[in-house]
Amino acid sequence: VIDVAGLNKWYDQFHVLKDVNLQVKEREIVVVCGPSGSGKSTLIRTMNRLEEHQEGTITVDGTVLTNDVKHIEQIRREVGMVFQQFNLFPHMTILENVISGPVHVRNMPRKQAEEIAYNYLERVGIGAQAHKFPGQLSGGQQQRVAIARALAMQPKIMLFDEPTSALDPEMIKEVLDVMRELAEQGMTMICVTHEMGFAREVADTMVFMDHGQIVEYAPVKEFFTNPREERSRVFLEQIL
Ligand code: ATP
Ligand code: MG
Repeated sequence: VIDVAGLNKWYDQFHVLKDVNLQVKEREIVVVCGPSGSGKSTLIRTMNRLEEHQEGTITVDGTVLTNDVKHIEQIRREVGMVFQQFNLFPHMTILENVISGPVHVRNMPRKQAEEIAYNYLERVGIGAQAHKFPGQLSGGQQQRVAIARALAMQPKIMLFDEPTSALDPEMIKEVLDVMRELAEQGMTMICVTHEMGFAREVADTMVFMDHGQIVEYAPVKEFFTNPREERSRVFLEQIL
């Protein structure tokens, strides 16, 4: 469903993504890891045009990402994104946060959007908190709301950018459990994370990035048992 081919991106003079190639199949779980500054966030932000690229093609579910607003909107409709900082609207209740996309972007009737919102909030274990404000929830709870909000748009693909790295240790598991469940239900996912236990269990494919390049791109078993590249070996040793 996702095909990234010959992707190059620069921030001014700085070559941030270097000839990146990535194919993600339906229901596939890809985990992207690598040192700070290697371009992981830039790569996934480029996939739904939060960033522009200069060379190469990005195809999502048959739509090629171009400057055409129609294509961008089409792709954003298919792709949900969850960030390290949860980015909830602080002045809106949890319920309002979750229905805002379906109501304002998809023009869904409010009643229907609320039903869907409650359904996803239940699924992430936040049903009882629907009328609270984000500030009244823990970090882990807020991140689960952010996941419910993305899911309420009924995306085909979910992108996660270090969704647990701003969380206290005891809250990491509850968010990873939601992600694990999503994976089991057949969602196609690209997750930037350093949670290698999660990766080992859930990922089909591992991508290791360094200095804007994909250094290693391997089935999960192979990556953890027999990484081909010295750089991924060193990285794994540091992180495990
Ligand atoms: P981290 O693990 O710290 O999140 P990352 O792998 O996600 O790192 P990116 O955020 O993609 O890395 O950044 C890649 C490189 O691009 C870094 O050197 C960063 O300083 C640079 N960079 C990121 N955003 C911009 C920007 N808007 N303008 C200029 N340079 C940027
Ligand atoms: Mg990042």
